[in-house]
Amino acid sequence: IIEATDVVKEYQTGDETLRALDGVDVAIRPGEFVAVVGPSGSGKSTLLNVLGLLDVPTAGHVELDDRTLSELSIRERTRMRRRTVGFVFQSFHLVPTLTATENVMAPRLVGGESDGAYDRATSLLRSVGLGDRLDHYPTELSGGQRQRVAVARALVNRPRLLLADEPTGNLDRETGQQVLSEFEGIAGDGVGIVAVTHDEQVTEFADRVVTLTDGRIESGGD
Ligand code: ATP
Ligand code: MG
Repeated sequence: IIEATDVVKEYQTGDETLRALDGVDVAIRPGEFVAVVGPSGSGKSTLLNVLGLLDVPTAGHVELDDRTLSELSIRERTRMRRRTVGFVFQSFHLVPTLTATENVMAPRLVGGESDGAYDRATSLLRSVGLGDRLDHYPTELSGGQRQRVAVARALVNRPRLLLADEPTGNLDRETGQQVLSEFEGIAGDGVGIVAVTHDEQVTEFADRVVTLTDGRIESGGD
């Protein structure tokens, strides 16, 4: 689905340049579940942002479905992202003024597909064990419940690439297992999944574990 070649990402803060990714090669195939591990600050979230078309690398090459991303306009890139990528952020990014169901429906409505959006949203929320929290607002949910709303939202547009930053980070073992079975199901449907994680439950589950250290891949790149 997506292939990154020799990707460098630098952040400029004042007159300091920080190299968060330093020549990363990684490819994700349909149906593959890849776990990304590494110390804090090693570039894991940065890598997800690049793979998810949220951020543009400073150098290197990213191809999505054989299309080179640097050749796309911002508009085309945004459209491809909406069509292709589901994102579970490290800090969830739920909209506080929307209920759980409305949060899950939102990306669908943005894409102009309101038909069946409510049914799809509620069925996803049920599948992550939140059938009794459909009309709750984020502040009325626990951290783990918010995380599961974020997982349901990432799936609402049936992405072909699911990127998740610590998807089980706030979950107890049993709920983590629930989310992982959901992931297993969609990987079975051919979705490529990349999950940043510290959780052994997730790495045991993954087809492949990529280890990042100081912005470089130590092992598992393909
Ligand atoms: P964690 O496990 O703590 O989430 P991470 O592996 O996800 O860490 P990144 O968030 O990718 O790490 O950050 C990699 C490096 O880039 C860090 O040194 C961080 O301080 C820096 N960095 C990340 N985002 C920015 C930004 N927007 N501007 C400047 N520096 C940044
Ligand atoms: Mg991070």
